[in-house]
Amino acid sequence: MTSILEGLNDAQREAVQAVDGPVLVLAGAGSGKTRVLTRRIAYLLGECGVDSRHILAMTFTNKAAGEMRERVEDLLQISCKTMWIGTFHSLCARLLRSHAERVGLRSNFTIYDATDQLALLRRVIADEELSEREWPARQIRARISKAKNAMQGADVFAQRAGAFDEQMVARIFRHYQDALKQNNAVDFDDLLMLSVELIRDHEDIRQTYQARFSHILIDEYQDTNRPQYLFARYLAEAHQNICVVGDDDQSIYAWRGADIRNILDFEADYPNALVVRLEQNYRSTQVILDAGNAVIRNNAGRKGKELWTDRAGGEKIRLKRCADEAAEALWIAGVARDFRRTHAYRNTAVLYRTNAQSRAIEEGLRRENIPYQIVGDVRFYERREVKDVLAYLKLVVNPHDSISFWRVLNTPRRGIGATSAARLDDFAMREGIAPYHALARLDEADALPARTARTMRGFYDLIEGFRRDMETMPADELAAKLVVDTGYLRDFEKLVREERESRRAHVEELLTDIQIFVEQSDDVSLEAYLRKVSLVTDVDQWENAVDAVTLMTLHSAKGLEFPIVFIAGLEDGLFPILRPGAEGDVEDALEEERRLFYVGITRAEERLFLSYAMRRRHYSGAVSCSASRFLSEIPEDLLDAGFKISEASNAPRQKSRAPQRVRPGESFLMDVGSWVVHPAWGRGQIQSRTGSGQTAKLKVKFNGGSVKTLMVKFANLQPG
Ligand code: ATP
Ligand code: MG
Repeated sequence: MTSILEGLNDAQREAVQAVDGPVLVLAGAGSGKTRVLTRRIAYLLGECGVDSRHILAMTFTNKAAGEMRERVEDLLQISCKTMWIGTFHSLCARLLRSHAERVGLRSNFTIYDATDQLALLRRVIADEELSEREWPARQIRARISKAKNAMQGADVFAQRAGAFDEQMVARIFRHYQDALKQNNAVDFDDLLMLSVELIRDHEDIRQTYQARFSHILIDEYQDTNRPQYLFARYLAEAHQNICVVGDDDQSIYAWRGADIRNILDFEADYPNALVVRLEQNYRSTQVILDAGNAVIRNNAGRKGKELWTDRAGGEKIRLKRCADEAAEALWIAGVARDFRRTHAYRNTAVLYRTNAQSRAIEEGLRRENIPYQIVGDVRFYERREVKDVLAYLKLVVNPHDSISFWRVLNTPRRGIGATSAARLDDFAMREGIAPYHALARLDEADALPARTARTMRGFYDLIEGFRRDMETMPADELAAKLVVDTGYLRDFEKLVREERESRRAHVEELLTDIQIFVEQSDDVSLEAYLRKVSLVTDVDQWENAVDAVTLMTLHSAKGLEFPIVFIAGLEDGLFPILRPGAEGDVEDALEEERRLFYVGITRAEERLFLSYAMRRRHYSGAVSCSASRFLSEIPEDLLDAGFKISEASNAPRQKSRAPQRVRPGESFLMDVGSWVVHPAWGRGQIQSRTGSGQTAKLKVKFNGGSVKTLMVKFANLQPG
């Protein structure tokens, strides 16, 4: 079994092989922490005879979990299907589903996303006869989330509430939790908090899972919040076989409740812990590493550690001042294109502080004809038509879900007016039932026009039909039937062409997504699909196999690495973002921003490019900017002032010639490499194909840079 320990240094090996008792790997960026975790799983399975069902491993994204699982399977040449590996949220959702009744839910509960949460809160605020102007739903949502991330439920919050304002929030919070329960729904934060309560308050369940998960592993431990910490702690209590890896210098999610003390206090929590420090960085050149080390040294609150690399020297870091964000984008595009000679586009990442910056960079790349992918921008599942169809599906799975119910009752328009809807709502409230169930008892409700009542009953019968179908039909068939039978697709016909095509394309993409899910997963139920969708993270939707430059926020880049990295928008106020009057200590906030910069710098393997603009357009107009204070923290001898590679590229370049077209009259073969035209996304090239004929699925890269998976049957492609 040498391969499991191969390519590990002594310290890494020690961390892999110390399988009994608590282990903390506290080490800097690129030192092989994630590699250690992967190998440790392989070692447990391959060397120690641990069955994969006894492993519980937490990663920061589902994508990282998938890669880790694959890596282990490759190393051992076995299948690890029974291993629980995923994000805390995914694993908690899975746990709750098995024991829903213990926390007052049904197993088909819905997971509300941020938008659903707002919709529910608005209803609650209205029911309390409060004005949203005084009690803005967004702010209340943030306060509730913060409380839950500190393990404070509605009751604890109410007990602690002092000022009038807090008491009001407590009241809304209580009401909101009751409403969630009535809807048989949870919000994202509940997944964690309820799971902790489940194992904390139910001894039998705790013991079951303590016995089941004999080995617990956590990546990116520095970004765990209180419920995550407790979850791991309760499960590890009996056997203490818990291995966490992390870097206090990379803690960047305090604003979401992450608590850096979890990693700093690990040794106090687990006094027998073996602490392993990894000091060799395998990712970056000396120059890049030195820059990272120099920057992070300015933070006071840290357990100091230094990294070294044997990749001595390296190209200097290029710092570029640009006139404005458009010039910055063109500079980035020019440099990225020049690397084309030596590096595929997928080796390059452009990182920025805020999503809003992607627009300008995208424009620059488009002008230079460079393919790109934006992580976290598309928010596919948040598009209106996608949300509509998902709401139908959610209602089918969980009829108690009133948020989904109200979304689709009159979508497409069925002639159910606001007055009738309000009457239905009143009736449901009076009876203490879900509005969907009220539809079955319409004859008891008063004063609904006969025609409306008929329509409502028709709607009920329609959904009941899908609920019966759900018992026998896989999710993809059901969804395809649903968009037709509800009249949802037909309704697009009244839209103008462009709008119609675009909406239809999104619905088709959703149907394809469901089909791919059905083909790839063991559980083909609609419920399983909806759970997947509600747990998807931005990075999960990123296709790194495609040859395109990746654009993403610094936060999303955590744990990743690229040969060539750009960090754009290094301007004071933008990075670091400084929010006057923001809660908490200004110095703490600045340190967190600096850690984020450290994360960004240490993503780079070979080349690092930093840029800032002297003027930047905001929604309120152009503002002049000055260079980020962080830049002065990089020693000058690491910076290159004479780099000229693409200075000239600020002038628009000629577009590269369009690739060969298929000649008219040729039979239209959907082969890899052929060009197609999609009604909404325009021209694109087929990257890969699975299956054949009408059910073939194609991965197409469109000229805008986006990559879509399409099914021939739905996609309405023309030869390009
Ligand atoms: P981060 O802090 O950014 O999450 P990390 O500590 O998790 O980084 P890894 O991603 O595990 O680091 O490793 C960084 C890179 O170094 C990877 O490309 C990995 O394959 C490589 N690497 C790790 N350990 C070794 C080793 N002993 N020999 C050679 N390469 C290694
Ligand atoms: Mg890592």
